[in-house]
Amino acid sequence: MNSVYFDHAATTPIDPRVVAAMQPFLSRLYGNPSSLHQTGREARAAIDAARNHVAALIHAAAAEIVFVASGTEADNLALLGTVKALPAGKHHFIASAIEHPAILATLRHLEENGIAVSYLPVTAEGLVDPSSLTAALRPETRLVSVMVANNVLGTLQPVAELAAIAHAHGALFHTDAVQAVGKIPLDMTALDIDLLSMSAHKLYGPKGAGALYVRSGVRLRPFLFGGGQERGLRSATENVAGIVGFGAAAEIAGQEMAADAARIVGLRDRLIAAVEKTIPGAYLIGHRYRRLPGHVCLGFAGREGEAIKLLLALDEAGFAVSAGSACSASRAAEPSYILTALGFDPFRARGSIRITLGRFNREEEIDRFVEVLSREVAGLRSISSLQGGVYA
Ligand code: PLP
Repeated sequence: MNSVYFDHAATTPIDPRVVAAMQPFLSRLYGNPSSLHQTGREARAAIDAARNHVAALIHAAAAEIVFVASGTEADNLALLGTVKALPAGKHHFIASAIEHPAILATLRHLEENGIAVSYLPVTAEGLVDPSSLTAALRPETRLVSVMVANNVLGTLQPVAELAAIAHAHGALFHTDAVQAVGKIPLDMTALDIDLLSMSAHKLYGPKGAGALYVRSGVRLRPFLFGGGQERGLRSATENVAGIVGFGAAAEIAGQEMAADAARIVGLRDRLIAAVEKTIPGAYLIGHRYRRLPGHVCLGFAGREGEAIKLLLALDEAGFAVSAGSACSASRAAEPSYILTALGFDPFRARGSIRITLGRFNREEEIDRFVEVLSREVAGLRSISSLQGGVYA
């Protein structure tokens, strides 16, 4: 049985049109873009075309797009590349407490190497209050990194306001837009952003292709050295098929994003309304309106510790969702740092279910899902009460 896929924040299915665009570059168009002969030039031209599509999607110039292997690498390049371009001295970075591990783990590495880092709190709805950024700034603050949209909650941060505050202070502004690119409009001519991370596999493209937008004039230094590809910022023979796929995915997103988003918001709101109506104790986590079109993060009062059990039961019933708090069953008992940052107590922070909808989902899947979810949550409740209501 093919399960219904509701985990688009983890990764998206590749759009068949993207596969078709990539196909020739996995077979007969195998040239190295650095080669001067015809085969190499074909590969170079394909990368140039992809760069134009990715740039167009965020209203940037092609020369401002650096292709890398993932969103994680884009985040690493933004932070490490900024540090490497700074003169020796005292430096301070600021990020929100709910950034993706690609940012948080890189910042921890920088802290071990002498960079001071401040983490901004978020409100109960998962938003950074711009006044907290103003309060955290120091004379030596060099970079502020706050994501456009959180991967677990889908909550949209006030990045325009935050970027303006960072710039008024003379700091760079980076944003991890991995969840947002291709889902909501992002315009680099309107947003004063210096560095922006993207990943192809979150917008119906292939895994292993990402990009960092680097505003013209922003100084970065590489952490990979070699043949000097990508203007010296990312040495390595390019993943031509992956980049072509990223370009195709970006082109499709540019054409279809508005219609997709309107339809997916309809599905999302139908899901939230049905869950709130039919499942006692179910609650929405994150801001109700300031969220990505397809993101729903749910808690079930008193049953938070059983999110993994619920996920596995839903999987068994044919629905692929994610536990918003933990990546694996072995970590199920750990409170989520994101829910903790929202002010959840350690018990409530142990579990949520993340349902992320996408391009190929249909209304009837939502309706079937709510029925099954309702049944499974009720099942959990009766098991828990038989066990003595440990979590009640
Ligand atoms: N940043 C955010 C917000 C993400 O959601 C992810 C992926 O889950 C990443 C970064 C990492 O992207 P990639 O999987 O391409 O390394």
